[in-house]
Amino acid sequence: MSDAIAEPTREAGLRRLDEFASRAGARYTTSRSFDFGPGRRGNVSALSPYIRHRLVVEQELLETVLQRHSPAAASKFVEEVFWRAYFKGWLEQHPDVWVDYRTSLSQELAKLDADSGLLKRYERAVAGNTGIDCFDAWIDELITTGYLHNHARMWFASIWVFTLELPWQLGADLFYRHLIDGDPAANTLSWRWVCGLHTQGKTYLARADNIQKYTDGRFNPDGQLATNAPALTESRAFALKPIPAAQALRPDERFGLLITEEDGCPASLLDDAVPATILGAVATRLRSPLPVGGPARDFAQGAVVDTVDRVTRTLAVSGEVTASDDWGSLLVEWASKNRIETIVTAYAPVGPVAELLALAGDPLERNGIRLVQLRRVYDNVNWPHAGRGYFKLRKQIPALLEQLVPTVSR
Ligand SMILES: Cc1cc2nc3c(=O)[nH]c(=O)nc-3n(C[C@H](O)[C@H](O)[C@H](O)COP(=O)(O)OP(=O)(O)OC[C@H]3O[C@@H](n4cnc5c(N)ncnc54)[C@H](O)[C@@H]3O)c2cc1C
Repeated sequence: MSDAIAEPTREAGLRRLDEFASRAGARYTTSRSFDFGPGRRGNVSALSPYIRHRLVVEQELLETVLQRHSPAAASKFVEEVFWRAYFKGWLEQHPDVWVDYRTSLSQELAKLDADSGLLKRYERAVAGNTGIDCFDAWIDELITTGYLHNHARMWFASIWVFTLELPWQLGADLFYRHLIDGDPAANTLSWRWVCGLHTQGKTYLARADNIQKYTDGRFNPDGQLATNAPALTESRAFALKPIPAAQALRPDERFGLLITEEDGCPASLLDDAVPATILGAVATRLRSPLPVGGPARDFAQGAVVDTVDRVTRTLAVSGEVTASDDWGSLLVEWASKNRIETIVTAYAPVGPVAELLALAGDPLERNGIRLVQLRRVYDNVNWPHAGRGYFKLRKQIPALLEQLVPTVSR
C-alpha cells in the first residue's frame, strides 16, 4: 500500500491481490513481521480493507495464492487468512463479548468526563503527544491512512494498556473508528488478546529491542515502555452460543437485494437469481459514539457504492445508495415502493449492521416483509471450528482447503 488511501473498489482489490500473490510464499514468511513504515508495504498484502468488506472474498484470495505457491510454501499466509475466519466465527459464538464491549466502552467514555487526569492522558495519547516516538508516529499513520501493520497494532495496543495504562476499550474504539479494515471481531478480540482476556492470562508485552528490530531501526523506545504486562481480568464469563441457522432464498421468489458494507460480492450468493431492485445502505457511523475517521468512513461508503454500481450494471437492475440509522423505516418504505415482500442480504455477522437489521426485524415483520440473510459457504464451513482456541481451527486447515479450494489445495 502506498501513502495514498486505498481505493474502495473490487477492481483495485483484485489488482492488489494479483500484484501481491507471487510474494505470499517464502518472502512473506520471512519478512511479514517487519513494519518498514508507510508506503513500504510490499512484504504484506495490505488486502485487509478489501477482505473485511468482502470486495475480495477469502476463497478467491486463497485460490489465487495457492495457484502460485504450494500449501506448504504459503502456509504462513494461509494461516493468517484463517485467523480472520477464527475471530469472525468465535465472536459469532460469543456475541455477548461484543455487547459487553459496547457497554463498557460507554462506561469508559463517561469516566473521561469525571476524571480529568485520565482525560488528559487519553487526549495526549490520541493527539500523538506521548513522547514515545513510535507510538506518536503510529497515531498519525492510523488517523491519516487508516492502516497499521499487524506488528504495530500489537505494539500499539500493548503500550496503550500496559505503559500508558489506558482502558483497552478506548484503544479498541480508536482503532475501530479509524481503521479502513475496522472489524468488530478482528479488532475487539485482538485487543482482548493483547490484554490477556482472550487467551486468559496470556498477554502481549511490547519490547523496545523487538520494536527496533522489526521497524528496521526506525524506532527504539528504550527505557520508555512498561517492563511487565499483568493480565487484565473480568468478573463475567461468556457462554458459547450456537451459530445462527443458515437461511435460503425460495425458488422464483421476487426479492430486493440489500447491499451493506459486510459483503461486496453479494451476487455470488444468489445462485443466478436476479433481484427486482437493489439498495445500498451504510452503517459506518455506528461504529462508535465518537466520530468515525475520514478514511474508514470513505472506504466503507465507497465499498457500498462500488458494489451497488457493479451489481446493478452486471444484473441490469436499478439501484440506489442511502445513509440512514433507522433501517426499519428505510427498508419498509423501500420494499413497499418496489412491491417487494422479501429482502435478501449477505449475512451480517456480529456488529453494527447486524444490530440495525435486528432493530428492523419488528417493523419488517409487521409489514409482512421477510428478511433473508445468506451466509457464505466459507463461513458455514469454518465457524464450527472457531468456538474455542485458534489452534483447533488451524489443525483443520488442510481439510478446510480441500473443501474450499479443492482445485489448488494439494
Ligand atoms: C490490536 C489489533 C487490532 C486489529 N484490528 C483489526 C481489524 O479491525 N480488522 C482486521 O481486518 N484486522 C485487524 N487486526 C489483524 C491484523 O493486524 C490485520 O488484519 C493485518 O495487519 C492487515 O494487514 P494485511 O492485509 O497486510 O495482512 P496480511 O499479513 O497480508 O494478512 C492477510 C490477511 O489475513 C487476515 N489477517 C492477517 N492477520 C490477521 C489477524 N491477526 N487477525 C485477523 N485477520 C488477520 C487479514 O484479512 C489480512 O488482510 C488487528 C490486529 C491487532 C493486533
